[in-house]
Amino acid sequence: MYDVIVIGSGIGGLVTATQLVVKGASVLVLEGYTIPGGSAGYFEREGYRFDVGASMIFGFGEKGTTNLLTRALNAVDLSLETIPDRVQIHYHLPLSLDLKVERNYEDFLQNLIAYFPHESKGIRRFYDECWKVFNCLNQMELLSLEEPRYLMRAFFGHPLACLGLAKYLPQNVGNIARRFIKDPQLLKFIDIECYCWSVVPADMTPMINAGMVFSDRHYGGVNYPKGGVGQIAQKLVEGLVKKGGEIKYQARVTQILVEKGKVVGVKLANNQEYRAQRVVSNATRWNTFEKLLSPVEIPPNEKQWQQRYKKSPSFFSLHMGVNAKLFSSHTECHHILLSEWEKMTDSEGTIFVSIPTLLDPELAPKGYHIIHGFTPSWIDEWQGLSEKEYEAKKETVAWRIIDKLEKIFPGIDANLDFLEIGTPKTHRRFLGRVDGTYGPIPRQKLRGLLGMPFNRTAIEGLYIVGDSTFPGQGLNAVAFSGFACAHRVGVDLGFI
Ligand SMILES: Cc1cc2nc3c(=O)[nH]c(=O)nc-3n(C[C@H](O)[C@H](O)[C@H](O)COP(=O)(O)OP(=O)(O)OC[C@H]3O[C@@H](n4cnc5c(N)ncnc54)[C@H](O)[C@@H]3O)c2cc1C
Repeated sequence: MYDVIVIGSGIGGLVTATQLVVKGASVLVLEGYTIPGGSAGYFEREGYRFDVGASMIFGFGEKGTTNLLTRALNAVDLSLETIPDRVQIHYHLPLSLDLKVERNYEDFLQNLIAYFPHESKGIRRFYDECWKVFNCLNQMELLSLEEPRYLMRAFFGHPLACLGLAKYLPQNVGNIARRFIKDPQLLKFIDIECYCWSVVPADMTPMINAGMVFSDRHYGGVNYPKGGVGQIAQKLVEGLVKKGGEIKYQARVTQILVEKGKVVGVKLANNQEYRAQRVVSNATRWNTFEKLLSPVEIPPNEKQWQQRYKKSPSFFSLHMGVNAKLFSSHTECHHILLSEWEKMTDSEGTIFVSIPTLLDPELAPKGYHIIHGFTPSWIDEWQGLSEKEYEAKKETVAWRIIDKLEKIFPGIDANLDFLEIGTPKTHRRFLGRVDGTYGPIPRQKLRGLLGMPFNRTAIEGLYIVGDSTFPGQGLNAVAFSGFACAHRVGVDLGFI
């Protein structure tokens, strides 16, 4: 009998597990795949080490309280060497808007103001407003907002910061941007600034998340872990085990066991059962309630949540190895390419590019680089095809994307050394995420982050951690969810 079982070793699950183990809880992590990390995992092919998903990493700063990846590793007496990225994103946008988001805040503002000089005041006031959110968050220890004693402590310790956050919690970026900015092209730019991590436009993106992303990129900065993103999960597992926790791989949970309305453990695909006082699911809310708890009736508050949030698209991914001569010394690590504003949220509309080997050359054979290119894609587009049709469609879409990438990397086709293609079905299969989704997005405009659930669920003893809980997607965000979840479980079990 364990104190806590964590289903899944994504960053959310591992932060929960490590935080609980250092508080003295006995913890077992059950991971369906062969390695940890989920969407922050990696795979190796022909001398290349590819990140599965995430590669623009926040949370590795050295100061403040929002550097949650640094803090999660430090909690188990570990750290990672990271490489600072001098530019967060190089945008290649409609109407020749070609702009770099520099690590230095003033440099970024000047780059943007150069395109929109008539909006110089509005630009500064909008991004300064984001700093207000960040400055509130960055004063407080980030723990469970559903734990009253912590809330009281936070309020009496930082009353102004708490009031500031309460003010921004129900707000979305669009309203605030329009308060300061009038130029429609500039508002479109704010849309893609949001879309590139929230996968919804500014009107649907919560201000709390924007405050984090738009400010932390200039504060703690974007930093790439040496050895690849997979190192984060590997290190957290090392810390977990060192502190007495356990992890089992190829341990796919097929059922969360419920007795007399209370969760008592889990059952694996091989029928083995494990018991615990508390179970934390790092699978998505849809996987947890519709697959792992079946035939238990979905609780009414989950049905309401499903009416407010829907699954975001998945991605079509190209993992490429290319000859190093494709790039110049000015090429940046992260790019976003969009040719028409109207297509921003369409399948194959926005193309995201990461070239992590520009920061850590050891991820590819000497003289070569990695390009991870990905674009939104829905699983429906890939269902019902024969194997032959599926393979043919993969090839067609891949070359369409590569053709588009020629615009920013002329000669990419001729310099291609390796290509592996992933579809939403690949994401579903390897990440265990229903429809391969990137996570929940609002069905319509909601009141900021107010509708995003915390970690407790309506089922006694069951908690959820990761990107389908407050505050949403991204490694630093799910680390926040992990700290909060461990805090709530720790209090419930008497460890705190
Ligand atoms: C293409 C792509 C690019 C991205 N880029 C960035 C980026 O640049 N920066 C950033 O910060 N974020 C990025 N993200 C988002 C970020 O990767 C995710 O938000 C985050 O990793 C999600 O973490 P998680 O803990 O919620 O769960 P996941 O990463 O989904 O991990 C869940 C784990 O649980 C396991 N699991 C699920 N069900 C079971 C079961 N039944 N039994 C056992 N194990 C199970 C899975 O195998 C998996 O290991 C990107 C995501 C994608 C897909």
